[in-house]
Amino acid sequence: MFGYYMPVKLKAGENIVTESPDGLILGSRAMIVTGRSSGKRSGALADVTAILEERSVPYTVYDRVENNPSIEAAAEGGAAAREYGADFIIAIGGGSPLDAAKAIAVYAANPPGNGFELYDIFKGVYENKPLPMAAIPTTAGTGSEVTPYSILTLHREQTKRSFSSPEVFFKTAFLDGRYIANLPLQTLRNTAVDALSHLIEGFTNKKSSPSSDYIALEGMRVLGGGLEILKDSLPPAELCTELLWAATLGGMVIAQTGTTIVHSMGYPLTYHKDIPHGMANGLLLGEYMRLADRELPWKTDLCLEALGLGSLDELCALLKLLLPCETAFTEEELAEWTKTTIAAKNVKTCPFEVTRGLEISIYKKCLL
Ligand code: NAP
Ligand code: FE
Repeated sequence: MFGYYMPVKLKAGENIVTESPDGLILGSRAMIVTGRSSGKRSGALADVTAILEERSVPYTVYDRVENNPSIEAAAEGGAAAREYGADFIIAIGGGSPLDAAKAIAVYAANPPGNGFELYDIFKGVYENKPLPMAAIPTTAGTGSEVTPYSILTLHREQTKRSFSSPEVFFKTAFLDGRYIANLPLQTLRNTAVDALSHLIEGFTNKKSSPSSDYIALEGMRVLGGGLEILKDSLPPAELCTELLWAATLGGMVIAQTGTTIVHSMGYPLTYHKDIPHGMANGLLLGEYMRLADRELPWKTDLCLEALGLGSLDELCALLKLLLPCETAFTEEELAEWTKTTIAAKNVKTCPFEVTRGLEISIYKKCLL
């Protein structure tokens, strides 16, 4: 038995926002949710405000979203949306603003304090419907534009955790490769490896199905050449479009399957050591593949073939080149983090049995 559900209307192409804006305006008063620089540097903010002004739609720009947004910051954004009277959201940015927008949409309609508390967002069911949202990704990695997930930083628990709800799928996502063309090379590499991680974790996941596998292999085929180019240089324009498409395909895969321990074990690296999300995954991905290879050798072979690589060693060497990491770790902190990571839901969807001892040994092999 298997199915496929991804209710986001996708619109892709050069200048798609300005030339075909239907699906962007989802109400009468907009809040644009973006990061400090992503909206401006990508050019997407200017395109969106031009359309809103042309159509006389009032809007406010909330550009205070930080990387790895916290639950408290999302609630503050929800209060700002309510105060402005926004009835829809346009999210512009990388995974951080897109994920923040999902939480802001929930909190705007369900203010914490009257029977709905801050952490109730993790229940995934809300009395009032979240505000409708459109998305414009400006990184090519998370696929958040097509997933029902939002990953929030929880300072109380010193980690990150995702909430999931079909109610926070975007209504529309606009994909334009031009918006990622200004990204620094290392951010492009980190985010491309996040996309790779989604494709591989989805493909090897216990919840994978013929439909998610089909998309995952296509995503790896699209991404393979791009990763090779990112070793040495910034991508040409047509490759930006491909990287973005591969990232969206990765999102479509994990929307069905979820991720695995690569993601849950990556969160402490980001929380405690400030390692970007995609890089955190990439540091662990090679060892994960070696373990998956023992259970599903035909699947790892298909991954390598789709990526245009000859062996797992080649994959590990590519990841090393793409992800230079100088951070030092101690054995004690790695063991400490596994107290939390072993409780993650996605431990159960790994293709191999995961124990705390195994997690410690993965961390040690990859990080010491
Ligand atoms: P990000 O945190 O959104 O952005 C990384 C950096 O890139 C920021 O400094 C940002 O600047 C900058 N930036 C973004 N677009 C730019 C552009 N076009 N030009 C120049 N700079 C730009 O990174 P991300 O990797 O896309 O997202 C990571 C987050 O997504 C994490 O919190 C992760 O847990 C989450 N995630 C979510 C899902 C999901 O399914 N929802 C899946 C995987 C990961 P500013 O901040 O100044 O704007
Ligand atoms: Fe991710």
